[in-house]
This record gives sequence, structure tokens and C-alpha cells, in this order.
Amino acid sequence: MKREPLVMIPGPTPVAGPVLDAMKIQTYGHTYGGFVEIYKECLAGLKQIFQADAVIAIGGAGTLSMEMGLVNVTKPGDSVLFISHGYFGDRYPEMAKAFGIKADVLTTEPGKTVCLESIEAKLKAHEYSAMALTHVDTSSGAMADLAGVASLATKYGVLFILDGVCASGAIDEDMKKHGIDIVVTTCQKAFAVPPGMTMVSLSERALERRESLGTIPAYYTDFKNWLPVMQNPTLYFATPPVNHIVALNLSVREILEEGLQARYARHEKMSKAFRAGIKAIGLEPVTCAHALAPTLSVIKYPEGIDDAVFRKTLEDNGVFCAGGVGSLKGKVFRIGHMGSIGWPELATTMSAIELTLKQMGHKFDIGAGMGAMEQAWA
Ligand code: PMP
Repeated sequence: MKREPLVMIPGPTPVAGPVLDAMKIQTYGHTYGGFVEIYKECLAGLKQIFQADAVIAIGGAGTLSMEMGLVNVTKPGDSVLFISHGYFGDRYPEMAKAFGIKADVLTTEPGKTVCLESIEAKLKAHEYSAMALTHVDTSSGAMADLAGVASLATKYGVLFILDGVCASGAIDEDMKKHGIDIVVTTCQKAFAVPPGMTMVSLSERALERRESLGTIPAYYTDFKNWLPVMQNPTLYFATPPVNHIVALNLSVREILEEGLQARYARHEKMSKAFRAGIKAIGLEPVTCAHALAPTLSVIKYPEGIDDAVFRKTLEDNGVFCAGGVGSLKGKVFRIGHMGSIGWPELATTMSAIELTLKQMGHKFDIGAGMGAMEQAWA
């Protein structure tokens, strides 16, 4: 019997049984009292996770939340500073162009992060309507210095948008503590829900900015069309993805039950153990040591290991990983370690990586990765 491989890509991530079950319950009417209570609980939980003043959670992918975050707080002709650490950071200025927004982009080599000095120099020299940062760029595995960048946004009074897609629910994104105005994110990574929900968390300042803009070139993505529904889910703007909201609510409940600090610590532990194993078999991340994200590892292929053959063999050995994107295509493989997973998935993955590399002729002591990972975990 063919078994599906374990999904260890950096999103979508494996979905826990109860969350999956919620996807197949008989669909509620979207204004039915029982569902309205679930939607309210979900939104209240998200508000708590992000310490947000308002949250919008609707159907869509992460890119939709990025678009919502941008078009509701800027108008055509405005200048926005984008700090990009890779493929997903580069998506934001591309999007800005489509809306006639002037994009000033700070970028760096894959795996590195833009230094705070160059960000400050930009903020000193120019007036921006907003600035945007990707918390973890899923292409390079680089985690930004959120506290450092956020403090610059506060110092220069610039509205601050954070793309939390590959971080939310696994790394602290307390909006009040850091001074973040908007977190745009989605459900298929550390929330461990099948793809399909998009979430935008807002500060009072972001809400005021939207008010001040009047009409914007958006309809489905206009905060003003959704905010009344988020206040009172018996109202209708567009039909919500009912089953998905039930599933997301279970994930949010689970996150809060685990405890935010405990959850962030679990992600740290998983990433450290996994990378100890990787190091022991002679592999290394493409990401600088100071920027290693707890949510995924982006690992360079050793000499002589072909990307397509590696990933196919790994799949035959039971694990589905992701290849590189953008300028890292063919040079790296990516393993997600976030959401609902734990030791069993890490162990299966490390074992499959070792088998695959051995079969492909890479020289190392088989078992060294598992041993190092066990040591680190224990
Ligand atoms: N931002 C980041 C950091 C991402 O990793 C991704 C997707 N991997 C996106 C945005 C876009 O999300 P989606 O594919 O759900 O549209």
C-alpha cells in the first residue's frame, strides 16, 4: 500500500486530528448562533495571541492578508519602505507597484539580514507612509530582528507592517510590546490548519489610518467592509468559510492552552535539536547564525548532491521536503519544524535525510545526525 509521505515543508504543515475533523463537520449556516459564538471565540483568541486592537480573519491565502495590510493604510503615490530578506520580502514591493505605491527596498544576500543602521539611514532621509518587514523569510530561513526594527519604526513614527506568515503562533509577535501596527498572516504554517484562512491584526493607529484615507482602491480587501462583521458575526458582508473558521478556532484554542511562551520555547527546542543533527552529518544552513528562525531550516546541499534526486529519494524514504525558491533554487532544501509537530516527526525526518544522503553517496557516519539530535533534545 502506498503511504503518503510525512509533510515537512515550511507550510502547509501537518494538521492535528481534531482540527482536521472540524473541516469535515456538517457545515453550519454562517449566521447560526452556534457558529457565531465559534467565530467570536476565534477572533478573541487571535486578538490575545497578537495583543491586537482588532482582528480580521477571512477566507484567503497569506498573500491576501499582505494585500489587505498594504492597501488599507496607503494610497497611490505614497512611499513605503520594504525590508526584504528574500523571495517573500520581494513580493511586497511587487505588490506595491500594482497599486501605484512607490517602493523603496532594502535587501541583502540570501540568508543575511539588513542591518539596523541602513534602515535607520533610510528612515532619517525619507518620509514614508509605512514600512514593511517579513518576520521570517521562508526562502532563506532568515528571521529579522523584530525588536530592533520595530523600535526604529516607533522612533521615526512610521506605521509598521509585519509579514508574520512563517512566524505567527511560533515566535512572539506581541503588537503592543513591540509597537507593531499590522500583522498579516495565514493559517497553514505554525497554526497548523489546512490552507485557506487569512488573518490581519491591527492597532488603533492602523484603524485610524484606514479611516483617514476615505475611499480606497479595494472592495473585498477593505477593512471597513469586514470590521463590522468581526464585531458582530451575525452581520453579512461575504460568506465566511465556516468549516475553516471552526478548524482555526480549535487551533487558536490549542495555542492558548499550550501557552504562548511554552509554544515559542517548543519551537526553539525543535529547531536547535534539528540543526544539531544537521551539523553532525556535515550539512549547514544557508542562514547566518544570528538570524536562524525557529520555524524552518534552509539547508545547503553538500557537494555532489543533486536537488531533484535528493528530494525524490527523501520522498521515497517517507518525507516530503521543499526545494529552494528564487536565487536559492537547486542549492538548498527546506524543512519546516513548526505547528503541531514534535519529536516523532523530527526523528522520522532526520532518519530519512540520513538514509537518503547515504544512498546518494555522501560521506558521513550514519546515525550521527540522530545521535546529535537526541542529545540536544534530551
Ligand atoms: N509571506 C511569507 C513569509 C510566506 O512564507 C508566504 C508563503 N509561503 C507568503 C507570504 C504568502 O502566503 P500564501 O502562499 O499563503 O499566499
